[in-house]
Amino acid sequence: MEKTVAEKLEALQKLQAIDSELDAIKTLRGDLPDEIQDLEDEIVGLETRVEKHKTAIDNKKEEISNRQNAIKESKALIEKYEQQQNNVRNNREYDALTKEVELQNLEIQISEKRIRQYQGDIEQINESLEKATEIVNERQKDLDVNKSELTSLETESMEQEEKLMKKRDRAYKTVETRLATAYSRIRGNARNGLAVVNIKRHACGGCFHTVPPQRQADVNSKKKIIVCENCGRIFADVEIVEVVEKPKRRTSRKKAAK
Ligand SMILES: [Zn+2]
Repeated sequence: MEKTVAEKLEALQKLQAIDSELDAIKTLRGDLPDEIQDLEDEIVGLETRVEKHKTAIDNKKEEISNRQNAIKESKALIEKYEQQQNNVRNNREYDALTKEVELQNLEIQISEKRIRQYQGDIEQINESLEKATEIVNERQKDLDVNKSELTSLETESMEQEEKLMKKRDRAYKTVETRLATAYSRIRGNARNGLAVVNIKRHACGGCFHTVPPQRQADVNSKKKIIVCENCGRIFADVEIVEVVEKPKRRTSRKKAAK
């Protein structure tokens, strides 16, 4: 049997109440989940940087060792050439070997210069590496603190939340699919998580935009589902309670009872 509009609205209101309770639990956690996500992202980025620095250092070290080997080879060649100079047959041969020795000495100088450069590079990279590592450690500490804080908050509210989620599942099933979809869409867009509101003091309870009298009357009659013209939230009811008038009405009711 098709539900009446009043019944549909009631089901929506129940769902909204449960969701608002769940929202309140999440509000308690504040920005913690976002902060944790940000920290985790930052740490991943920093760790990538640390790895890059380490690889760069390894590369420089390999270059140094290559240069050191080249120096050894040059020194061996120089020794060989100097030996050969003892057995030359003429000056031309001697001079040629002297040139070769000079060339190798030049090679050694170039390699030594490069090694000094690489060592300077390594020192610089090491500094960046230490800084990055330090920041990683700091962020990791922050992350641990936030995580344990969130865990304790979650543990506190877990039972309550589970109960509410079950209640929510049941409440959600009582809302017809088309309305449930609209509800979820409106709620997703609403900053305060309210998709179903009452009209309070002639204004939308969600966006506080004034609702014209005819529209209020339509909401009151519950013949069809009415939404706020300004924000699209679903109107469940019209609250006629005026806070200032509350005591007055109570006394008049008492008087009427007498
Ligand atoms: Zn509104």
